Amino acid sequence: MQNSTIDRQLRWATAQLQQSSDAPDSPQLDAKLLLCRVLSCELIYLYTWPEKCLSAEQLIQFAELVARRKSGQPVAHLLGYRDFWSLRLAVSDDTLIPRPETELLVETALALPLDDTTKVIDLGTGTGAIALALASERPTWQVRGIDKNAAAVALAKRNASTHSIHNVAFQQSDWFSAITDNHYQLIVSNPPYVETHSPYLAEGDVRFEPLSALVSGADGLDDIRLIVAQAPRYLANFGWLLIEHGFNQASDIARIFAHHGFREVRCLTDLNGLARITLGQYCHDMP
Ligand code: GLN
Repeated sequence: MQNSTIDRQLRWATAQLQQSSDAPDSPQLDAKLLLCRVLSCELIYLYTWPEKCLSAEQLIQFAELVARRKSGQPVAHLLGYRDFWSLRLAVSDDTLIPRPETELLVETALALPLDDTTKVIDLGTGTGAIALALASERPTWQVRGIDKNAAAVALAKRNASTHSIHNVAFQQSDWFSAITDNHYQLIVSNPPYVETHSPYLAEGDVRFEPLSALVSGADGLDDIRLIVAQAPRYLANFGWLLIEHGFNQASDIARIFAHHGFREVRCLTDLNGLARITLGQYCHDMP
């Protein structure tokens, strides 16, 4: 039946998603990824076999997924994964879905002058994205990912095991509360930083993500203030702190870093030209 071909189904689904009041940014790509999920195939298969027909069962499954996407559900939740760095990570509604802009944090951390024995903490690790990317790139580093949410810790452990990454450990902790040693050369975090009343929370994928991973007080800076204030206790001498934040928070964050004695404070912009990461170095014996 002509209507059940891959090509026809993709056109139908793209049109459905385009028409929705909740239209996603990339209806065509979303349609393709959802069809790959139904057919358990890679994208290349869709280009190679546009005339192939879906079975009756596959047509039903695809229609269901398209309807869920049309209602706004994140494509990552429908697929069960999101690609981040070089890793395909399992996602769930217990954590933030990894974002491409967070790869800048990974890139920045990897470019720092750090030696082979570097010990790292990733605060609020969620799926484990940052911790796993760093651990996979630097097999001699010891990376510790922590999260307040037990379900996130379990998910991050599962992602480590899927990718056979062994130089990483995940553990439940409310920020630094379970950390007792203080020899970390690097602390990284993509903490919650959205303002409590931000209209952004009513749009797109964020509606399906846990508020605890997104929101942090009236100005979005509550958790960042806590992390910057406490990080010096856990950093080795000349250790680095790297934090992701909102595009409009850079000057406040630079002030917070400086207030707590960080040096070399710098802000980096993401691919969209938006301020995204602030980093600073801590020296314990500063005059
Ligand atoms: N960058 C995320 C977003 O824009 C916010 C995530 C966070 O608060 N860490 O949705």
